[in-house]
Amino acid sequence: MIIIRDLFKSFGAVEAVNGVNLNVGRGKVMVIIGPSGSGKSTLLRCINHLEIETSGEIWIDGEKLTRDQQQLNRIRADVGMVFQHFNLYPHLTVLENITLAQQIVRGRAKIEAIEIAEQQLSRVGILGKRDSFPTQLSGGQQQRVAIARALAMKPKIMLFDEPTSALDPEMIKEVLDVMLDLVKDGITMVVVTHEMGFARRAAHEVVFMDHGKIVEKANPETFFTNPQNERSQLFLSQIL
Ligand code: ATP
Ligand code: MG
Repeated sequence: MIIIRDLFKSFGAVEAVNGVNLNVGRGKVMVIIGPSGSGKSTLLRCINHLEIETSGEIWIDGEKLTRDQQQLNRIRADVGMVFQHFNLYPHLTVLENITLAQQIVRGRAKIEAIEIAEQQLSRVGILGKRDSFPTQLSGGQQQRVAIARALAMKPKIMLFDEPTSALDPEMIKEVLDVMLDLVKDGITMVVVTHEMGFARRAAHEVVFMDHGKIVEKANPETFFTNPQNERSQLFLSQIL
């Protein structure tokens, strides 16, 4: 579903992504971990072309990404992204937040967009908040709205960039539970997270990044019980 070949992305002298090769199969969940500044967000942002790579190739569902604007819009609709800070529109209600892009990008009629929004709000367990504004919601609820908004586009892939890092501990679980449900539903996911419990339960593959490179890639069982690389060992010893 996602193929990344020899991907480089630099910002001036900084090689944020420094030669990454990855495959994520359909319905698979890849968890990316690594220290701050190791290039995790940049890699994710390259996958939906929020950042344009310096060199290398990205293929989504058999199609190579180019700089073509039409293709870009299509790919962004197919690749949903959820950020650490929910990025909801504060002046729109929950329902409006979820229907807007559906109408503009997917060209859906309002009534259809509302129906899909309501389905996705039930899926993440907050249909009752449809007419609230983001500031009236807890962080966990806001993040679930952001997930519902991405899902409403019917994406082929969901990208998560530290979706629980800005949340109070008691709200982390409600968001992780929603994500675990998506895993069960077989959605292809790439997740940057420090939640090792989630990684263990959900990931088909765990990738450890450092200095823009993948230094270790393994199934979670192997990665957490017997990491091979010195830097992954050190990282795990610090956070587990
Ligand atoms: P964190 O865990 O703190 O979120 P990260 O692994 O997501 O870190 P990135 O945000 O991808 O790391 O950053 C990788 C490197 O690229 C860092 O050195 C960062 O300073 C640099 N970088 C990222 N985005 C930009 C940008 N827009 N302009 C300049 N430098 C950037
Ligand atoms: Mg980041």
